[in-house]
Order: sequence, then C-alpha cells, then structure tokens
Amino acid sequence: MSMSSLAQEVAKRRTFAIISHPDAGKTTITEKVLLHGHLIQRAGTVKGRKSGQHAKSDWMEMEKERGISVTTSVMQFPYHDKLVNLLDTPGHEDFSEDTYRTLTAVDSCLMVIDAAKGVEERTIKLMEVTRLRDTPIITFMNKLDRDIRDPIELMDEVENVLKIRCAPITWPIGEGKNFKGVYNLMTDTVTLYETGKGAVIQDGKQIVGLDSPELDIAIGDYAVDLRDEIDLVRGASNEFNLAAFLSGELTPVYWGTALGNFGVDHMLDGLTAWAPSPQSRATEHRVVEPNESGFTGFVFKIQANMDPNHRDRVAFMRIVSGCYEKGMKLQHVRLGKEVRIADAVTFVAGDREQVDQAWAGDIIGLHNHGTIQIGDTFTTGEALKFTGIPNFAPELFRRIQLKDPLKIKQLQKGLMQLSEEGAVQVFRPLRNNDLIVGAVGILQFDVVVHRLRSEYKVEAIYEPVNVATARWIQARDNKVLEQFKQKAYDNLALDGAENLTYIAPTMVNLQLAQERHPDVAFLKTREN
Ligand code: GDP
Repeated sequence: MSMSSLAQEVAKRRTFAIISHPDAGKTTITEKVLLHGHLIQRAGTVKGRKSGQHAKSDWMEMEKERGISVTTSVMQFPYHDKLVNLLDTPGHEDFSEDTYRTLTAVDSCLMVIDAAKGVEERTIKLMEVTRLRDTPIITFMNKLDRDIRDPIELMDEVENVLKIRCAPITWPIGEGKNFKGVYNLMTDTVTLYETGKGAVIQDGKQIVGLDSPELDIAIGDYAVDLRDEIDLVRGASNEFNLAAFLSGELTPVYWGTALGNFGVDHMLDGLTAWAPSPQSRATEHRVVEPNESGFTGFVFKIQANMDPNHRDRVAFMRIVSGCYEKGMKLQHVRLGKEVRIADAVTFVAGDREQVDQAWAGDIIGLHNHGTIQIGDTFTTGEALKFTGIPNFAPELFRRIQLKDPLKIKQLQKGLMQLSEEGAVQVFRPLRNNDLIVGAVGILQFDVVVHRLRSEYKVEAIYEPVNVATARWIQARDNKVLEQFKQKAYDNLALDGAENLTYIAPTMVNLQLAQERHPDVAFLKTREN
C-alpha cells in the first residue's frame, strides 16, 4: 500500500458520535442519517438498532421497554466524497462510563438539542467529556415542527451554559405548524419544508437569494419577517470560523426536524465538509499520527453476546494509524503476544460483515476470547500504549447470590464477561468467596441480572453489602505493596482483571487507610 493512498483514505474519513439528552431525538436522527447514507431505503421500516434481529432478544426488549439504548454499534456509510463512521453512544446516564470511552474513539460530535426544551442536564455532562479533548461540536436544533423556544434565546443558552460560541449556518423560518424551512446564511439559500416526507430523502425546493420575489410567493409574510430577522442575526451572532470549530470553541448550528427528515442533510454537509479527518492520539511514549504506515489501534469497548446466534464477545477497536488488512499479524502489546487477525468485522446497522481492509479512523470488531481488555493497544510491532481510556471506580455495590448454588461456574463466567465490557465491575474479596458487583449507575444492576438470566441461564439476586467505595491499588515498591497487603487484607479484593482493589466500608475508612499508607496510591480511575 502506498503512502499516498493511506493519506487519501484517512482524509476521506469522518468519525463522530451523537450526544444528547434522552428523547431529544438521537435515535430518530441516526435513522435519518442512515437514510442519507443509503444504509436503509426508508425510515420507519428499520428502526436502527431497535428492530431487526436484535430486537428479538429479551435484552433488547428491556432496552425498548425502558426507552434507553444500551448498546454501541458502529455504522459506516459514504456521503458525497467522504466516508462517515457514526458511533452510537448509550443514551442513559447510568452508562456514562461506556459513553465516555466511546467519545475517546471519535474525532467530532453532533449535539442534538430539543428546541422546545433547550440545553438539558445530560447534554451538559456529555459536553464536559468532549471538552477534555476539545472535540469539535456540530449542533442540531431539533423538533422545529413543534412550538419551540425563541431561537436567539436557545443559542444564548448554549453559549452561556455550555461555554461554546454558536455560529448559525441555517436559520429557521417559522416553527410548529408554521415551520416553513430554513435559510442558509452562508449560501444565501432558502430550503422549503414540506410535511409528511419524513420517511424519504426529500428534494427540498430551494430559492436562491433572500431578496428573491419567489420567496414572497412561497412563504408570504414570513419572507418579510425573515429579512428583518436575518439582519439582526448576522449582526448579533458569530460567523463560522473553521479554526475555532476545530479547537472546540465554536459550533456551527443547524435547525430542522429529525422526524420530518428536514435539515439532517444540511448538517451532514457541514460535518463532511468541516469536521476533522482522523486525528492523532497520545500514547505513553509519543503521539501517533493517522498517516503513519504502521498499524496501531486501541480497544474502547467490549461487548458480550452482541448477536444471540453467535454467543461471542466483540472488542471494538479504533484504528489510530495505518491500515488493517485481513490476515495481518498484530502485536497485542499488553500481553506481548503476536496474534493473526483474520476475522475482524464491521457493523452495518446492526449486521456484521467481515472486513478486508480498514483505515485509520475506522472501527473494527475483533473476536475476543477473553484475552482482550478495554484500553488494550494493538500495533504492527512497536510497544506503544494509548492513554486516556479509563475505568472509573464504581460508586454502588451489591453482593450477588445464586438461587441455585450449583451454578457458580456459570455465574463466575457471566460476571467476568460482563465486567470485561466495562459497564459493571466485579470484585472478589481476598478473605472470602463473595462476589461483589460494583456499578457507576443503579440501572446496571438490573441489566446484569437480566443478562445473566437470558445469556448465561443463571438466576441471581442481590444483597446489600457494606462497601461504600473502591480504589485501585498501586505501589512503586514491591515491599511496600506486600506490607500493605498484610495490613489491609480484610479490605482487599481482586477485580475482574485481577487488579488489586481496596474496598472501603466507609469514606472515612478510605481516608484513614490513605493517611496510614502514604506510599500506596489509591486510584479512582484505572487504565489497563
Ligand atoms: P432519543 O431518546 O434521543 O433517541 O430520542 P428519539 O429519537 O427516540 O425521539 C424521542 C421522541 O421524540 C420520539 O417520540 C420521536 O418520535 C420524537 N421526535 C424526534 N424527533 C422529532 C422531531 O423532529 N419532531 C417531533 N415532533 N418529534 C420528534
């Protein structure tokens, strides 16, 4: 493979995720994006991950009942001359840890806001995460077919609450029943909205020129109002600036309705034109650039039993540099082992396909037989380790008990696999045979019992356990560590990946332990 074709492939790619508050329209907009990407022919027939084969499993039933999405899938499609990778992020706040790691694997984000509601709490949290890496943000103001809040006020709210400047690219004309379309401030073009066409790609009648008499014919008095308003908007808002967008300081803002499939294509035009191609990533030793010929990638998510027919575990890897070719040999750096990868998969709206080639910016799925962990790095030889893909110490704990004690092997296996996914963590105290489940959010406990039942045929229940918090233990000196192990034996446990963990019955206990053992590090996050 020549360097120039690598550079071309990289330049073509746009890898992004959608962040939003539940119900703002993420699922609906994802579906419309897939429609524009020609992955589906008609919206409403395939409801993304919420139908098709997966919907048949109990697991997905639960997702549907609760109205949350708990899986991350990856969708790739061409759009104009670009190749777009859309990573689906779990929507519920209980899965923030998973979402956090997914956001490490993208180069830009689409923020969807319900224009009737404005900036909501979950969006604020997710924006905080994107800020850690100054990820460029594109904004879509959704549900213009409803009565919305004042557009200028909405943009002010985004600027004040989320601390990012807004540059309107389009501007809405009317709202609710009187939503007429949008005006593009950059191209001086009005696109007219037609109702009842949400399931298909619309032609969208366009009128060039704000002063065009055609506009008065098409939308009557709204044309007069629009001209006044645009004057005001141009004066009061920021102009789009590519550098400010790329550094995460300014967001281009689009308006439309995902349900009506209006405005989604405008947003995609902006995304493919301006969002960054695959970016470099830091390792412990150096920064890796996407155009390097050596292959590198990191695992940001593991998921068990994605497909009930396959019963397997898939590790999602973001390719950081170079090209994956079927059958290539890669170094699994943490294990110091060479593996031949012949069966990596890509995901197309829930279906998986064998992949022959994939490039920096793409996400591929590796079959995981228990050897891969979140945060693992794969390379064509160089001993690198990507940083910034953490596990967070859980904040909620329960002891898990079997209804049928003979099924302990299945329980252990199930828990280990589910903890590998990183959504839940399992701790085994050194001093007894308890199995303690730790989670960042309460819903995860239900998910674990549900999945143990449907995927591992184990009936389990929870009991309260006297654990308030957990910290991963590290010590520079082996002697210090051994001494600590003896002294703190009763409070020590191993997590799913055999890492030593301090489980504290109270915060005060933790504080005392830290004071008593100043040479020992009590870590709230862990990178493999
Ligand atoms: P998610 O929770 O963010 O994935 O939100 P969904 O896409 O599931 O949408 C939540 C609800 O809002 C659903 O009932 C959608 O039909 C509805 N919805 C989404 N987009 C629009 C829109 O543009 N207009 C209206 N009126 N409803 C919308």
